[in-house]
Amino acid sequence: MHFVTVKNILTGAGSNMNIYRGCTHGCVYCDTRSKCYGFTHALEDVEVKSNAVELLDDALKRKRQKCMVGTGSMSDPYQPVETELGFTRRCLQVINNRNCGATMITKSDRVLRDLDLLQEINGKTKCVVQITLTCTDETLSKAIEPNVCTTQERIQVLETLKHHRIPTVVWLSPVIPFITDTEENIKNILDACVANDVRGIVCFGMGMTLREGNREYFYRFLDRFDPALKQRYIDTYANSYQILSPYNARLMNLYDETCNKYGIIYGPERIFAYLKEFPQKEKQLSPVLIPAFLGFAAAFLVFAAALCESNFEKTTFFESKK
Ligand code: SF4
Repeated sequence: MHFVTVKNILTGAGSNMNIYRGCTHGCVYCDTRSKCYGFTHALEDVEVKSNAVELLDDALKRKRQKCMVGTGSMSDPYQPVETELGFTRRCLQVINNRNCGATMITKSDRVLRDLDLLQEINGKTKCVVQITLTCTDETLSKAIEPNVCTTQERIQVLETLKHHRIPTVVWLSPVIPFITDTEENIKNILDACVANDVRGIVCFGMGMTLREGNREYFYRFLDRFDPALKQRYIDTYANSYQILSPYNARLMNLYDETCNKYGIIYGPERIFAYLKEFPQKEKQLSPVLIPAFLGFAAAFLVFAAALCESNFEKTTFFESKK
């Protein structure tokens, strides 16, 4: 672990952040290992943005509109170091104090440490926890995601969040061809989603991505896991970036049908729109509307005062008649 100070914390459309850069979960398929991201340190040497909390507070203070703040798209916000540092928790406190909404993507059950804050944010605005599920076979789960809690433990997280009425979204991604692309595995994951009332399931297709950096790491895993499978990958996909399971069509049908049947949001665009949507009830008055609101309030007060005065006169008149 090492610390850096950064100039900005919110990126993208202005409301996403990564408090940590790097990850020790050890997923064999991790896209963050890809060279294009320009890591100058090992992925496992987690970079901590030491001024993340202060920057976030400042950025949210200056925002004209309340919004959803997302974290975890590049690196899981619940790294083991989070237990000791508490940066994610402190950022959630800032989000809560600034009356914004929150959403985070994680594979870790450490997220439950912050259940009190998640509930508080969700009570005021909106909080959505996004959990990745890739494989329900516990032995396989430990082989492909070795340093984070197992799928069953993540399903228990979904159950706890459901119990506390905190909405959840599941990332059914990646699906590793010839390893996790069985109908049984996908069905088990979908069943867990249905049983725990998840709002949405993200799936980009039954497959994964491989490119320079993460491909080599994944192939080293295949060397240990099943050397013959590595050759099958090379023969089937060569240097393709997007790698789809040969069973993609059938498994996607299962996914579509399940989501339709149980009213679960599917399709990345619709889910991202749901995640971005800030509840109207908590929307801040736009600065351009504030003068109009103040004018309306002043007119209302003048009208109320006039009404009281006329009632007073009526009362005095009737009383004098008694
Ligand atoms: S949790 Fe995400 S960032 Fe961390 S190793 Fe796994 S895929 Fe990579």
